[in-house]
Amino acid sequence: MNVDLVIRNAIVVACDGKNTVIKDGGVAVQGGRITQVAASADLAAAIQSAKTVVDGAGHILMPGLVNAHCHAADSLFRGLVEDLPLEPWLQKVWTAEGAILNPQTSYLGSVLGCAELLLSGVTSVMDMFWYPGETVRAARKLGMRVATGGIFFDGPGVTGGDLDSRIKAAEDFFAAFGGADDVFAATMPHGAYTVGPENLKAARAIADRHGGLFSTHAAETKAEQDDIQGRYGRSVIRHLDHLDLLDERATLAHCVHLDDEEIDILARTGATVSHNPMSNLKLASGIARIPDMLSAGVNVALGTDGAISGNDLDMWLALRMAATLHKGATQRADAVSTIEALAMVTTTGARALGASDRLGSLETGKLADMILVDVRRPHAVPLFDPVTHLVYSTAKSDVRHVFVGGEHVVRDGQLTRHSIDETLDEVARLAPRIAATIA
Ligand SMILES: [Zn+2]
Repeated sequence: MNVDLVIRNAIVVACDGKNTVIKDGGVAVQGGRITQVAASADLAAAIQSAKTVVDGAGHILMPGLVNAHCHAADSLFRGLVEDLPLEPWLQKVWTAEGAILNPQTSYLGSVLGCAELLLSGVTSVMDMFWYPGETVRAARKLGMRVATGGIFFDGPGVTGGDLDSRIKAAEDFFAAFGGADDVFAATMPHGAYTVGPENLKAARAIADRHGGLFSTHAAETKAEQDDIQGRYGRSVIRHLDHLDLLDERATLAHCVHLDDEEIDILARTGATVSHNPMSNLKLASGIARIPDMLSAGVNVALGTDGAISGNDLDMWLALRMAATLHKGATQRADAVSTIEALAMVTTTGARALGASDRLGSLETGKLADMILVDVRRPHAVPLFDPVTHLVYSTAKSDVRHVFVGGEHVVRDGQLTRHSIDETLDEVARLAPRIAATIA
């Protein structure tokens, strides 16, 4: 047996739905897939033939995280517009984006955002942005997986163009990237308030034709609910359901303002809700009814949204907020359990990507997307339960090693494929132009 990689001596948190924890264990990897998850003592044979052996002592080994809603390239606008609610905030954001974004700057911002994600242990991201081909190029540069695809937006937006050109761009994206194992090709209409019913259906039809994913913002604010109700005589989720857009390949970002029946619709259709607690709090959108969604059986994944609405892309902060915010809001300590929260960044995120069979857990046969989290730190000891540690006390800087398909893409906290200093310098040179857009 030839083995490419063995990681041993780690605390394994498998996220396999059976709460498997191995106190001293690891994995063997061959051809980008996990071939063994075992105690360190049982990895001896694999180590004999392994090309690379990584010592995971003092670390938790777990699946790479899935960020189920992001706009990585919006990191260029981090901190530019503050202390406004969504609607006036969006107007300023769109002005800045319109002045700055082109394929080159979108690539630059995507590298910046993807670097932050990958360094913090996110190995797959669902990313909605103009020039999605540039997002793929950035993710591939660093070695991470991305779900993205053609944007639909009824106004000219950043790129200009009409419905025909959006359809062509979406089809071209599937032609270029459909079927790639590092790209989950999708169509991504911005939202029901910016994309009319026919265009939403056109976006969904393209995704359906190619077996791809579909993602949109939904029910982010009370004002959006009122707007859609006024225009179409239905609430946002009823509207999307009426248009037959919802199934297990659809991911709806936010879903902050839902009534009971809308939650039932999400559960019935199998659509994923991407919960973005940081963005929802900072933009004063509200608090999503996540405990009610979990009780109803809705697939709830977790996202950061863009750094323009949350100022960074910290999935560990999102995780801790998902596990704590709803306890406070409902005054119920079991509102979202530790295990439920951890599932949001692993297994349910993988389900949102349509990749439950390949990602989200450390199990034999799955893709070797894995991270090593340093637990020999003052905020990490003593460590009675690695799961509670991951949810309540891990910081993004604790992620020391990241593997995607078995490739060591972050080693000792550094990207292995790209020198990030070049990107940081380039962003610094662009920053005065960005600042000038809202001056
Ligand atoms: Zn968003």
